[in-house]
Amino acid sequence: MPHRSVGPLEMSRHRTTAAVLLVLLAAWVSSATAGAAVPRLVFPVVAKTTYTNDFGAPRWQGSHEGNDLMAAKRSPVVAVEAGRVVKWTSSRSAGCMLYLYGRSGTTYMYVHLNNDRTLRNDNDGGCRNRIAYAPRLRSGQQVAAGELIGYVGDSGDANGIAPHLHFELHPNGGRAVSPYRRLRDARRHLFQRPRSTVETLELRVRGTVVRTRGDLDPDRIRIRVTQVRLSNGWIAKPARTVMMTLPSEATLRRSTAPGTWTTATIADFSVGSRVQAWTPVMPNARSQARAAPGRLAIRDIVLRR
Ligand SMILES: [Zn+2]
Repeated sequence: MPHRSVGPLEMSRHRTTAAVLLVLLAAWVSSATAGAAVPRLVFPVVAKTTYTNDFGAPRWQGSHEGNDLMAAKRSPVVAVEAGRVVKWTSSRSAGCMLYLYGRSGTTYMYVHLNNDRTLRNDNDGGCRNRIAYAPRLRSGQQVAAGELIGYVGDSGDANGIAPHLHFELHPNGGRAVSPYRRLRDARRHLFQRPRSTVETLELRVRGTVVRTRGDLDPDRIRIRVTQVRLSNGWIAKPARTVMMTLPSEATLRRSTAPGTWTTATIADFSVGSRVQAWTPVMPNARSQARAAPGRLAIRDIVLRR
C-alpha cells in the first residue's frame, strides 16, 4: 500500500474528533462516578408513605427539585446515610429543614418538617427539637444511617397542605437530581434508630400474622406490623412485614381474658391472628433497624383476643 499523506485539514479533523471523544469519555466517567457515589439509601420516612416522581414538575417557584413524600404528620424522618446534619430554620418557603451531608459526598435536603405543637395545624411549635427535629439533635452533629433526625410536617409553604417531606438529592453536593429511583430502591427500616449513645434496645411489635413456619429450626413467624414500640418510648408505624425467629426458649402465650394467659404453640398462631411480640435486649445497630428476614428474635409472643 502506498503511503497516503494526511493533509493539515484532515489532521485537524482527527484531532477534533479525538478531543470530542475525550470530553465525552471524561463526562461519562464523571457521571458514572457521581452515580456510584450515592449509596443505597435508607428510606427517609418510617411510615406509610405515598409519592410519585414529581421531580421537575412545574411549581410557582420554578421546577420541582425533589420528590414529595406524603405521610402522616409527625412520622419519624431518618438519615438516609451516615453523615452530618445542619439545621436550617430561616427559609420562609422551606420552613423547618435539615441538610444531611452524607459521607458519600451526597447532600440531602429534608424540607417542611413539623412545626405544630399539637396534631392540629397550630404553627405553634417552631423549628425546635421534639417538634421539627429529633430530641437533643444539634446542628453539625454526626448521625448514623437510619437515625431519627426529625418529623414529617407542613412548615413553610406547605402550611395547611397535606403533611409531607420534600426530599432532595444532590450528588457530590451539586445540582439536584430526581431521588425517585433511589427511593424505590431504598431499604425501609422497621424503626427509627436512637442516637449512638443508646447502646441497647428492646422492641414490642404489634401486628397480624402473615405466615408461620413451624418446620424450621428455629421456627419463624412473619408479622404485618401495625406498631413498633421501642424501650425508650418511641413509636413507629413502619408499613411493612417482619420475619422473626422463635428460638426454643421463647415464650408463646394465648390471651384468654384480660390479664390471663395460657401456654400456646406455634400451631395456635394462624394467618390473621393478632399478636404482640417482644424481642430480647439487642444492640442499637443498623442491622436490627433493617430487620432482614430472621434477624430479629422473639423473647415472648402473645396471641391477642
Ligand atoms: Zn416538594
